[in-house]
Amino acid sequence: MSPTLKRAHNFNAGPAVLPLPVLEKAQADLLDYCGTGMSVMEISHRSKEFEAIIQKAEADLRDLMGIPANYKVMFLQGGASLQFAMLPMNVRPAGASADYIVTGTWSKTAFKEAGKQGAARAAANTEASNFNRLPAASEIQADPNAAYLHFTSNETIHGVEWKSEPIPPAGVPLICDMSSDFLSRPVDVSRYALIYAGAQKNAGPAGVVVVIARDDMLARTPANLPVMLDYKLLAESGSLHNTPPCWSIYIVGLVLEWLKGLGGLEAMARINQEKAGLVYRAIDGSGGFYRGHAVPEARSNMNVPFRMPSEELENKFVKEATAAGLVGLKGHRSVGGLRASIYNALPRPSVEALVQFMADFQKKEG
Ligand SMILES: *Cc1c(COP(=O)(O)O)cnc(C)c1O
Repeated sequence: MSPTLKRAHNFNAGPAVLPLPVLEKAQADLLDYCGTGMSVMEISHRSKEFEAIIQKAEADLRDLMGIPANYKVMFLQGGASLQFAMLPMNVRPAGASADYIVTGTWSKTAFKEAGKQGAARAAANTEASNFNRLPAASEIQADPNAAYLHFTSNETIHGVEWKSEPIPPAGVPLICDMSSDFLSRPVDVSRYALIYAGAQKNAGPAGVVVVIARDDMLARTPANLPVMLDYKLLAESGSLHNTPPCWSIYIVGLVLEWLKGLGGLEAMARINQEKAGLVYRAIDGSGGFYRGHAVPEARSNMNVPFRMPSEELENKFVKEATAAGLVGLKGHRSVGGLRASIYNALPRPSVEALVQFMADFQKKEG
């Protein structure tokens, strides 16, 4: 890294910070990828170079997450938002109903999309408390005949994160939108029938969404779906039915290599736990000056929304933090206040800078 390079303390919610070694590798390879004399943006998706990129990305993902052999991995487009629609189109048989656990903006949106072309019901809904908590197991009224049970492992806007998966009724496949805590900790993939995650929070740039689907879910795809909405066909083509988002997949591949070099998901989870602990300690130690949105048991290690005594102070905080090089801290409009997104790639010194800034700001304004 050049001594004059100035990187922001990047708390953006997504697209978000990427690991510096990944950006440096992409930069080094930019003009001449592996002796081709071209960048990854300029080579064919049918070239042997790109085939190696996508195959290695899949192999590294399988290795990091321990994905069993009876699951397919797809690199698709349209973001997690398209998955909200594609999932029920493929996996909910005609006439069947799908269950959703609604714990924040994203699961609520997924639920709404699923209701457009078939039956969907909320097995639990925590909106009455402005999505600041997770439902207790006893609150989840799951349909034993549901086509699947869907949940969102981390609510990016409300900052609530499941510590372990909800348990569906026997025989009901568990499906997860893992967009904003994907690769942040180990996950037992065998408990899931299907996982999807947009890359731009924790795994790479915007433009690609990773779908991990068990074979029996792919067998549910009905005939005559439009090709680009057809899981079975896309999986069979190795995500190469048409031109995939080559550059995004390449960067995801570099992020996966970076994670492996770090020691994998156990190591990443430890680092994330420590970083989140610093922020929550700062909130809890502020005597109520900073107030976390989520109840302590449901707190996310990825997104920390918090409030301050007045909107005026919140605006001042954001303005002064930005001037000090801490960017992306303004909260989502539905929760208000501040939000610190502290994804995998956010270096610990950035979290330390935030915590110091919070203490200084409180001393000055509290
Ligand atoms: C950001 C996000 C989405 C939407 O992702 P897009 O790629 O913009 O469609 C969906 N779910 C969760 C949990 C998210 O964080």
